[in-house]
Amino acid sequence: MRIMQVREWFTAQVAVAWVPLRRTVTMSGRALGQLLLPPACAYCGTALSAQPVGRPCLCGECLAGLVRVGRRACRYCASPLPRLWPDDARCPRCRRRRYHFSRAVAVGVYRDELQQAVVAMKHPICEPLTYSMGLLLAETVAAHLAEERVDLIVPVPMHWRRRLSRGTYPAQLLAQVIGGVLQRPLALRVLRCRRKVRKQGTLRPHERLRNVRGAFSVSAGYAITDANVLLVDDVMTTGATANEAARMLRQAGAGDVFVAVVARGVGIDWPGSGP
Ligand SMILES: [Zn+2]
Ligand SMILES: [Zn+2]
Repeated sequence: MRIMQVREWFTAQVAVAWVPLRRTVTMSGRALGQLLLPPACAYCGTALSAQPVGRPCLCGECLAGLVRVGRRACRYCASPLPRLWPDDARCPRCRRRRYHFSRAVAVGVYRDELQQAVVAMKHPICEPLTYSMGLLLAETVAAHLAEERVDLIVPVPMHWRRRLSRGTYPAQLLAQVIGGVLQRPLALRVLRCRRKVRKQGTLRPHERLRNVRGAFSVSAGYAITDANVLLVDDVMTTGATANEAARMLRQAGAGDVFVAVVARGVGIDWPGSGP
């Protein structure tokens, strides 16, 4: 009995000591890292004087440029709303088409600096930028989906051959950052890409729907019944990929599916895409 009490006391002491110890180790590692590799903007490379923990590693100018495009957006599909369009109403795109996801949020519109940032994120050397964009996306999710319950965070899957050739998987890194910030569980393997699809950006809208149809499957062994899922990707243009992924999740029993993307693409003929 006494041995048990000593053991419990020791375990409790270790647990109590671990938190400040971990903080000290983390801060020391961070200080050492900043001494050896001074912090620099993940987008333009400008040296930064100090980098607060948990904030995007971006200089003020880049941060303003990347967030500037995040204007009034449709709460259902994240498309920018035309001028004078009511805040809570479905946008013209949503009125024409219904999605299998309930709502979508984006840091901003896929153009200008944000478009360049998303393109850069497709290269492994730009993973620090992806990490910073993940922090911005986590802020967006916290601000716009605060009233929604999110049980699981799932990245839009990428075929293993494309992952191998790219050497980076932005959707997964974004999902990991959001999961860490919002303290929500990740399910990195629940959705699988069954076949290699052609790059959506090279196809016309109706071809994109066909291209991803049946491309995803839900892995066996995951209990997602009634779970609300946050689906994460770097960019959404027509919504065909996110819609197909959401369709598979709903078919497997998921509750609501929400979509979080860094950039929401719109066509040049989109009524809300003017300056
Ligand atoms: Zn910068
Ligand atoms: Zn909409």
